[in-house]
Amino acid sequence: MREKKIPFGERDGTLFRAHEVGNGLRCGCVCPGCRQPLNAANNGEKVIPHFRHAQSNDCTDGFREGVRRAAVALIVQHRQLLLPAFLGTARVSTVSGRLLEDKVELKPATATADSVERFVDLDGLRGHAVLHQSGRQLIVRIKMSSRMEHERYRQLQALEHSSMEIDLHRLTLEQINDPDSFAHAVLQDPSTRFWIRCIRGERLLASAEQKLQLHATELNATWLQEQAEREAEEQARQLALAEEKAERDLALKTHRAMQIDMAEQYPATEQDATVQGRADLIAATMLKAMRAWDGKAVECTACHLLSPPDARFCLYCTADGSEVRSVSVPADIASTIHKRMRCSAKPNMSIKTAPTLALRPEV
Ligand SMILES: [Zn+2]
Ligand SMILES: [Zn+2]
Repeated sequence: MREKKIPFGERDGTLFRAHEVGNGLRCGCVCPGCRQPLNAANNGEKVIPHFRHAQSNDCTDGFREGVRRAAVALIVQHRQLLLPAFLGTARVSTVSGRLLEDKVELKPATATADSVERFVDLDGLRGHAVLHQSGRQLIVRIKMSSRMEHERYRQLQALEHSSMEIDLHRLTLEQINDPDSFAHAVLQDPSTRFWIRCIRGERLLASAEQKLQLHATELNATWLQEQAEREAEEQARQLALAEEKAERDLALKTHRAMQIDMAEQYPATEQDATVQGRADLIAATMLKAMRAWDGKAVECTACHLLSPPDARFCLYCTADGSEVRSVSVPADIASTIHKRMRCSAKPNMSIKTAPTLALRPEV
């Protein structure tokens, strides 16, 4: 176990590395965790200098207490520290469901403190170092285990101060023994530190959010106005449709009354309800179109009889779904009509869709 090898021994309140003191018990050091005597192992080229408890015990704090105190001593000595990077994204949604985003970034930067306090009690929580600068405080935690400390982070985040963590639990004995690598890991290495709470980053985020909110307010106003216009257009369209339908219903009612009137003068016959009779009528309306309407007419989609070109409804039937479509009668209709009707499916379809006529065409 790594904890058996202790990198720092304490003598008269000062921490020493094993190569800085006499070998074995002559080092005169105690364990920074349990304060029991230590044995320095600094002889031999294959051994990385370290301390061990002179008498084996179950102390496991010697390693982390020593490293933590040595790290805090460095911060106190330099009063300078690289701050972690801060990355955040401000997000605001618009009423139309669009997400506005703005990225906020603080690059790692060196902070210089007016003073540094060590091992400060903060409502039952230990700040390993607290940096003071122009009335502001930065709480530093030195992490010496692989455990995530969610509860501790939550407590720190509830404080009105920035707080950061320096994670030293992965340092090897060799790195700790080398003053330069150790100082780099504690003071400068961007990969060993992160924010628990970054007040300056939070302010940047809030200000970015405020800008986005202003933009969203503008977008919302435009969208709401456009939405009102879209709704007004749709209402106008529905109203126009309703008016159109009412007008058509009224026109059809008038047309039906006229058909009843005309039926007295031109009543349908039994012959008109046969395929042959219907074929004769279709042929007769085609010839009439040529003779009387200049070759123009409208054809009923139900009974296939031709009505005058300006007719809005079929003159002769009352079939559901009857509509009229403009047609032109071929100029040679008089000489080809019998041949045309022989091979036409229209008489059959006419009988099927409009079995009886309201009145027969005047031919
Ligand atoms: Zn100990
Ligand atoms: Zn018809």
